[in-house]
Amino acid sequence: MKVARTLSFHETRVEEAPIPQLEPGDALVEVVACGLCGSDATDWYVDKKAPTVLGHEPAGVVVEVGEGCLLEPGQRIFFHHHVSCGVCHYCARGFDTNCSLFRSSKLDPGGFAERVRVPRENVERDTLLLPEGVDFDAATFIEPLACSLRAIDKLELRAGESVWVIGLGAMGLMNAALAKHYGAGLVVATELDPGRRDPDPCWGVDHVLDPTDEGFPKAMRELTSGRGPDHVIVGPSSKVAIQQASELVAPGGRVCLFSPVSPDKEITLPLNRFYFGEITLVSSYSCGAGETRRSLELIEADAVPVKRLISHRLTLEEVGEGIQRTAAAGPDWLRAVVYPQGLPEVE
Ligand SMILES: [Zn+2]
Ligand SMILES: [Zn+2]
Repeated sequence: MKVARTLSFHETRVEEAPIPQLEPGDALVEVVACGLCGSDATDWYVDKKAPTVLGHEPAGVVVEVGEGCLLEPGQRIFFHHHVSCGVCHYCARGFDTNCSLFRSSKLDPGGFAERVRVPRENVERDTLLLPEGVDFDAATFIEPLACSLRAIDKLELRAGESVWVIGLGAMGLMNAALAKHYGAGLVVATELDPGRRDPDPCWGVDHVLDPTDEGFPKAMRELTSGRGPDHVIVGPSSKVAIQQASELVAPGGRVCLFSPVSPDKEITLPLNRFYFGEITLVSSYSCGAGETRRSLELIEADAVPVKRLISHRLTLEEVGEGIQRTAAAGPDWLRAVVYPQGLPEVE
């Protein structure tokens, strides 16, 4: 079978690989579609994992099952690359993405492959049958929308509060849409790229500001009754974004780090402000089985129009270029979906 193997951030090539052998409880899945995530296009994060087959937003069809597997050939499924045990110290406290099983479980070899072995624990703990109304394109958003859900949960958002979403790529738009869906009274976004500052109203963004504009802090305060936003979801892990969020969030507010900060990056925060303002810094890492279920329900109910985020459709051969273009994030590039069986016919 063909796989797109990533040797480094700058080099991905299609190779032949053996079809994985099934153990009892495993499933072999033909990957129909798999989203290309921003983390697949983050240089230090990719180089840490390489050589590897990326792709963790997959959907496909079961083609073969190991003895005692809960799935059957022919079923259309979403399958999560990481699963938690549900019973350890971290799982019991709701920090399931820090479960040791979550960190060690993975797909074999990864979503950017013609076929994937879904190990027994992944089958049993976070594989979802796709309802009739959810096609493979929509299903590639189950994982990323679940990550957004986790972030919104971390904010402990109350109805009417204001949310500042930093960055209007695909994740920023989903974060904005979910903030509105869960009751935000005002959603303000900032975006460096002028070409992305006019999102469709369906994403629930009320105002978009240029964070490099001299008058930006004042404009943000004016939009938020002089207080600053009650919550901030920091999409890009840049120093400037994190510092701006920390300076402008309202007292009592929450700043949520949505993307990993490079391990060698040190950022100074205004802790005096955090102390007197009772401001909370939280992070939202990945998503667990609770969130993927809720995400599928939201997608099935069309609560978030996720398929509108697909800007590019790629073959396995185009994964390397897709990684570079996702990293460059031009104004026309939102989400690329990879089709290991070949591109679908355009409707
Ligand atoms: Zn992702
Ligand atoms: Zn656990």
